Amino acid sequence: MFDWLIVGAGFAGSVLAERLASQRNEKVLVIDKRDHIAGNAYDYKDQAGILIHQYGPHIFHTNSSNIFEYLSQFIQWRPYEHRVLAKVDGQLLPIPINLDTINRLYGLSLDSEGLEQFFAQKAEHIASIETSEDVVVSKVGRELYEKFFQGYTRKQWGLDPSQLDKSVTARVPTRTNRDDRYFEDKFQYMPLDGYTKMFANLLDHPNITVETSVSYQQRRSQVKFKRLIFTGPVDEYFDHRFGKLPYRSLHFKHETLNEERHQPVGTVNFPQSEDYTRVTEFKHLTGQVSDKTSIMYEYPSDIGDPFYPVPRPENQVIYKKYEALANATENVWFAGRLATYRYYNMDQVVGQALATFKHINEAVPVAKGLSSFSSAIWPAEVAK
Ligand code: FAD
Ligand code: UDP
Repeated sequence: MFDWLIVGAGFAGSVLAERLASQRNEKVLVIDKRDHIAGNAYDYKDQAGILIHQYGPHIFHTNSSNIFEYLSQFIQWRPYEHRVLAKVDGQLLPIPINLDTINRLYGLSLDSEGLEQFFAQKAEHIASIETSEDVVVSKVGRELYEKFFQGYTRKQWGLDPSQLDKSVTARVPTRTNRDDRYFEDKFQYMPLDGYTKMFANLLDHPNITVETSVSYQQRRSQVKFKRLIFTGPVDEYFDHRFGKLPYRSLHFKHETLNEERHQPVGTVNFPQSEDYTRVTEFKHLTGQVSDKTSIMYEYPSDIGDPFYPVPRPENQVIYKKYEALANATENVWFAGRLATYRYYNMDQVVGQALATFKHINEAVPVAKGLSSFSSAIWPAEVAK
């Protein structure tokens, strides 16, 4: 008999397993239908010995010292600031759009103040910013929107930016300085020995049993458990009773090349050409040294593993029905990007899992009494 069955060995499932096992001394079974732990953050060494990310480039960034400190118990970090260039009008230009992007694209020599005026002249006035088109057009105007955002977004989502919530393109800021980092967060790191190693450390506890290549549908009737945490797609859990929630997928093409360096930065985006959206060279991310290099192309698709919830008002309406049902389902908790249908980064999923643990502590009496509890994360709640 397990105290908990956790479906999914990604960030949501693994963080919750670690908390329940170490802080409540409860027995946890974690299952994943894939043949590995780490969910979408899974990395491994390919045939050339290069550490690659199977499901697309994962760069850790957060502004939360709580989340950073929590994960730091399980991993050593390597400082890394991600940089991205976009191939636009035959040039490789910094994205997010910054001072150098505009000066190089138009052969100008503006300073930051001049660029502010430039954007002010180009920007369209939009009374209420609702869509992913509105966000960009209202800041930098239509021409830059079309060059950098419209084509990429159409490829990535199979939808025009005008059909997507503003939160999607709002992930990418516009800058008037020369900062060419993709992220601005306080903490920007990669796990020194890879993500999979971090998950192995998270799950390395005598109270935790892990089974891979096992689906919830297969295992649920064979195993005895008191409570469930589900981190897969929420609509799948409820047999799609309110209809299917759309998820966007990706197909990945991996290649190893007999060259030391393939491209000048970690990722190159292709907003105007090619069927793929971006190409990532992993050695930039990992700092690995080799005379070979491994790269990955991302081809968006509606078919395949569910990777992205699709932020649109009509999908939120469907999700809200599932959320109400999820909240009313006793002894089952839903956490993670698919189970809460939120376009969350890794740190946000960790934060959500820690908050879920807090809610569990408030709602569920501890099964076996506290172990050697001394966490700084949620002491007041757990000590109840
Ligand atoms: P997942 O990692 O998806 O884990 C859920 C697990 O549940 C999966 O392993 C799945 O196999 C399993 N599962 C589902 N249903 C069942 C079932 N019925 N039975 C058994 N197992 C099941 N975030 C960042 O912070 N930085 C980045 O640079 C970044 N890059 C990304 C790039 C790409 C291409 C993608 C797709 C995502 C990226 N993310 C990034 C987001 C990051 O992947 C997610 O935030 C995080 O992995 C979500 O964790 P999770 O536990 O919610 O879900
Ligand atoms: N985007 C774009 N052009 C770019 C980069 C991003 O149009 O060069 C848009 C696109 O809609 C994308 C969204 O901004 O889906 C968010 O980009 P991000 O890099 O955060 O996407 P993710 O890494 O989550 O795939």
